[in-house]
Amino acid sequence: MKWLTRGGAAGALAVGAAVTWGLGWRGLMLLLAFFVSGSVLTQLAGGEGGQRNLRQVIANGGVAAAAALWGRWSIAAAALAAATADTWATEIGAFSPTPPRLLTTGRQAPKGTSGAMSVLGTVGGVVGAWAIALLAWALEPRAIGKGAAGVIANAGVVGMLVDSLLGATVQGVYECPQCAARSERRDTVCHQPVRLIRGWRWLDNDAVNFAATLAGAAVGALA
Ligand SMILES: [Zn+2]
Repeated sequence: MKWLTRGGAAGALAVGAAVTWGLGWRGLMLLLAFFVSGSVLTQLAGGEGGQRNLRQVIANGGVAAAAALWGRWSIAAAALAAATADTWATEIGAFSPTPPRLLTTGRQAPKGTSGAMSVLGTVGGVVGAWAIALLAWALEPRAIGKGAAGVIANAGVVGMLVDSLLGATVQGVYECPQCAARSERRDTVCHQPVRLIRGWRWLDNDAVNFAATLAGAAVGALA
């Protein structure tokens, strides 16, 4: 099992150091809970995209690292809850017996399509958000009260919904000009290099993840 590329490992070390510096070993435990649970679920779900690169690591952990350096437990935990909810939703959703539906139109879409949600994946995401929130509360009950744990869990769910909403609307979608196969990566070459058919070119899955953790952090600031 290899979970990270070289750049991804460097990014993970930097995020881990920032979180430990700002919040101590308890913060590091929370970060590891997100990272290990996500990696294990990715392996169980087939391991696709299992190796995370630097961009992906920063997209998921950058906001939490910044909040940790700022010394804000609940904001860092909320950003991690959002990242966890999104990861768990994607990986647990891979086991959904029915295809997911787009958040905006309700139309069915292939599994793994950004912006598409299944009941099983959504439940998985909510459970993931609560798992991180309760763990944060258990690790640091002085900084995070009982009520704050609820806010952090909700922040995770909001992050997951923001992720799906952006994924269904403005995230870049590409298509092979010859066979119309869809891709979310602009560097894909199918029969020919893919062309942008919807969304913003710069808004890829990593940028959407970053925005989702930022949304989670904003809700976490209310805790
Ligand atoms: Zn093609």
